[in-house]
Amino acid sequence: TRRKIVAGNWKMNGSSESVVELVKGLKSNDAVDVVIAPTFVYLPVVSDALKGSEIKLAAQTVSEFASGAYTGEVSLAMLKDFSVSHVILGHSERRSLFLETDAQVAKKVLATLEVGLTPILCVGETLEQREAGTTLDVCNAQVDAVLELVGVEMFDKVVIAYEPVWAIGTGKSATSEQAQEVHKGIRDNIAEKSLEIAQKVAILYGGSVKASNSAELFAQPDIDGALVGGASLDAKEFNSIIESAK
Ligand code: 13P
Repeated sequence: TRRKIVAGNWKMNGSSESVVELVKGLKSNDAVDVVIAPTFVYLPVVSDALKGSEIKLAAQTVSEFASGAYTGEVSLAMLKDFSVSHVILGHSERRSLFLETDAQVAKKVLATLEVGLTPILCVGETLEQREAGTTLDVCNAQVDAVLELVGVEMFDKVVIAYEPVWAIGTGKSATSEQAQEVHKGIRDNIAEKSLEIAQKVAILYGGSVKASNSAELFAQPDIDGALVGGASLDAKEFNSIIESAK
């Protein structure tokens, strides 16, 4: 059985004061892995606020390069310096607004695994692609781009987040049946390379997850948790989501 993971992607929100307040309000429990992802500049203050807590720290992206002349970028070694354990990669906002390609995402996932951190690889279709019936092809092509570079052996160390683009920040979550269908399709595709690895990979759902729909999503056999945006900025709401993953 796979452990549930509830991750909060804070995106470009908060202040040095509000992020500490938010951390203070969070309640983790032994049955669930809780991860929070503040923006880079607040990693130090959030890392300090998490001392003694079971809650894990994530970054929202990272450079695929180790060091050097890459103005504006942040390296994996720098993240490790602040006790970061997870890195969200290939989020649809990075892909669409900052033009990250499958090839770049794959390099970032590999680099993250190589330093022993956990990548949270985001995949998902647009509304247009869903309506054209290509949802699974799109998601599996995004997964395969990474799988081909990384190799299946290490793939149990990757967390996948299925985030349909049309469900992000829209208040319109995928139904638990729609999500389950895609999660199963992603797992089946990995199983074609290795059944054992496919059974170990955690696949999170993301897109308008709230306390009112999380339990139903988590009850699906292939949904191993959530990557939460907006609702992770409210401690009470996020705590309820964590609680529902027990
Ligand atoms: P919302 O929960 O705000 O829809 O965002 C989902 C998301 O993009 C998490 O990475």
